[in-house]
Parts: sequence; structure tokens; C-alpha cells
Amino acid sequence: MAVLGDRFHRSIHDIRKSQFKSKFFEEYKEMAGNSGIGVISDRDAQPLIIGSKFGTFAIVVTGIVENTTELAKELLDLGETFSEMSGGRINSVELIAKLITRGETLIDGIQGVYDRIEGSASILLLKEDGIYAARDRLGRTPLVVGEKDGEYAVATENCSFLNLGFHVVKYLEPGEIINISPSGLQSRLAGRDRNQICSFLWIYTGYPASSYEGINVEVVRERSGGFLARNDNVEADLVAGVPDSGVGHAIGYSIESGLPFRRPLVKYTPGYGRSYTPPSQEIRDLVATMKLIPVRDVIAGNRIVLCEDSIVRGTQLKNFTVAKLWESGAKEIHVRPACPPLMFHCKFALSTRSIDELVARRAINALEGRHAEDITEYLDDTSEKYQKMVDWIAREINVTTLKYQKIRDMIEAIGLPREKLCLHCWIGEGAACCA
Ligand code: SF4
Repeated sequence: MAVLGDRFHRSIHDIRKSQFKSKFFEEYKEMAGNSGIGVISDRDAQPLIIGSKFGTFAIVVTGIVENTTELAKELLDLGETFSEMSGGRINSVELIAKLITRGETLIDGIQGVYDRIEGSASILLLKEDGIYAARDRLGRTPLVVGEKDGEYAVATENCSFLNLGFHVVKYLEPGEIINISPSGLQSRLAGRDRNQICSFLWIYTGYPASSYEGINVEVVRERSGGFLARNDNVEADLVAGVPDSGVGHAIGYSIESGLPFRRPLVKYTPGYGRSYTPPSQEIRDLVATMKLIPVRDVIAGNRIVLCEDSIVRGTQLKNFTVAKLWESGAKEIHVRPACPPLMFHCKFALSTRSIDELVARRAINALEGRHAEDITEYLDDTSEKYQKMVDWIAREINVTTLKYQKIRDMIEAIGLPREKLCLHCWIGEGAACCA
């Protein structure tokens, strides 16, 4: 967090093992001031406080810069220096701050960031004349403005406003820049037409109480579950969701199919809940082992439809979810992911995975007997190859049946036009909407 009062107050904590509140609860009382910014970052230490020709500012960024090395080299060649090397590499927030300071004006500098980076960046910047909020040029990550009695807040998740009594004033357009100061909210750069917001926000990463582009996460998940049920004819005793993000999809499945929604797995999170991308495999496995507890009396003897947001590597689903259901006496397990097979790694928002880790890619490589470059036929959910891939994954994760959501149904569940969504995870660069 960074707060501006008579001077900048800043504090950076590693919150992987404990919650945000416990780290900052006492400290924020010392951070006197009327404006502040903060971020939870999986990658870079931030906020950074930068002295510049525009004055001193604090900055936080959410997103990913893929071409950090090239841009850093360019700046180093121009005589710039990088001071925040504590992680042993260039801090991409510092890189973005340097790019901003090369602009004629602050706004020009932020536009320069939009134009130069490969990836995405939504920025909050705090200085004497207020807070600047800039949404990524393609809108991969959202920014929403709330207001309460003349006070403003900007967040990626509007659910953070609800208990505080703020109401949504506007969702920033892609590339839009605003300034919030004692004189109110002012537009500093109009948004661009081209919006390709991350579809995964609704399917997996978003909080159920949040809305993006005015569309609520939980409602999308219920619609998504409805599509899963409509395309299904499996006979089962109950439907369940892998907590937490699978639950909304399962409720939608239950409403549509009439199957009872039950909880064969409950979440146990003390100390384990914060990061959805723990850094090492060992920690990921520990989190996965501990976070779900089977309810044996709900599981034993039952045929279970299990809704999951997505399948990434498949190992956690197999080893820590499906295994617990079998061990507890499940009769059948029918997994229904709420999105199509993941085929590409995210270059814009998530610090997740390499392509070869993805279970769908492992299936394709196994079926082809080599590292397959052309996967076009596997992207077509009506093709024979697609079905073979799904059957391979079902065997791999050890489930009775597996049926993925179709991409058109996922898009319809979200409710935005296809060209307004980033679908790169599923269809990759070749797709017009992701160019
Ligand atoms: S690639 Fe996937 S996770 Fe990344 S922004 Fe696009 S839809 Fe979201």
C-alpha cells in the first residue's frame, strides 16, 4: 500500500502465508493521508515510489509484461537504471514507471506503455494532483470506479464496494485514463472501442459478488452450469462443484437438470486460501491436499456430477479431488468443466503455466506420438480427434466420464459478443478476436 499525506507512506508485505488485513491492520493507522493505492501482486514488489519530471508518484500495476527483457535493454541503452532488483530480475512495475516518465506528459507516458508492452497493464498512479487510473488498452483486466458521499474508490473488483456502501459510477473502458482529485472525477483519455476482457474472470478467477462490464460472476456461472446440464444426459444422484469457483456452475447445473445440489467436498482454508497460483509444485500440492475435506456420508454409493471451473494440468483434480471421492466410496464420477480444454498459456493476466504442462496438450502429444505443432483439429469440438483427446484426459484423471463446456455456450453464458472477449486460452493467436 502507498498513501499520500504530508509525504508518501509505503508498506510492502509478502502475504502468501497470512492475510492482507493482519499485515496492514495496525500499520495503515500510521499511514495518514486522504488518498492511497494498493495491490496484491504475485510477481513484483510494489507499490514503487518514483521521482520524476512529473513529480514524485507511487504506482501499482496489474497484468503481465512479456517483453520485459527487450524493453529493459532499450532503456538501459538510453542510460536509464533499474534500482528495484531485489527479486534478481527487472521489476516490471519499475519498467512501466520508466516508460511513463519518457512521455511528454503523464498521459502520453501511459499511452506509451499501452503501445510498447506485449501483455497487459492496468495502472493506478498516485501523485499530488490525485489518483490516475488507467485500464489496460485491451481491457483484459477490469477497473471499476465507486463513489460514496463524494469519496471515490477504484478497484478491479466491485465486490469490494458493497459492504463499504460505495456504488458503481463507471466501468473504465479499455485504454481509458481518469483522474480522481478533490475536485472530483475527470476523464483524461477516452477509452478505445476494442475490448477483449479476460473470459476467465467469470469462469474461474472472479469473485462471485463481482460484476465486470456490468455482468455478475455468479449469474454467469449459473448460466454456464445450465448449458452444461442441457448438453448432458448422464444419470446421476447429485451434482456438486469443486469449491469455490465450481459451485456456481454446479448450482446452475442443478437448477437446469433438477438433480440435487450437494456438498461432497467442503473447503478448509485456514492459512491456505490466498494464492491461486502458489509458486512451487510442492506448495501447490500441500495447498491442494489440505484445502478440501471429503464428506463421506454424502459421497458413498453415489453417482456424482462434479462441476469444475477448468482443468489446467489435471494433476490436482486427479490426486486431490477425484481420488478423495473414490476413496470415500463414490460409485461414479462425471466431471463437467465450465470451459473448453485449455490449449494456450495466458500472456495477459495470469502467471500460470507453460503450454506443455496443460493436460490437453499432454493428451495431444501422447495421441500424436510427438510434440504436435498443428492442433487445429483438436480445437473443433465436433471432430474425432477432439473426442479422442477428451477420452484420454478422462482416463488420465481417472473419472467415469468427462464432458467440457462448448466455447459458444461459454460465450453465451457470459453474455458479451465474442469479439469483446479474450478467448486466447482456448483458441490461441490464430483467433481473430485475440490478434
Ligand atoms: S489468455 Fe485466458 S486467462 Fe489470459 S486474459 Fe485471455 S482469457 Fe484471460
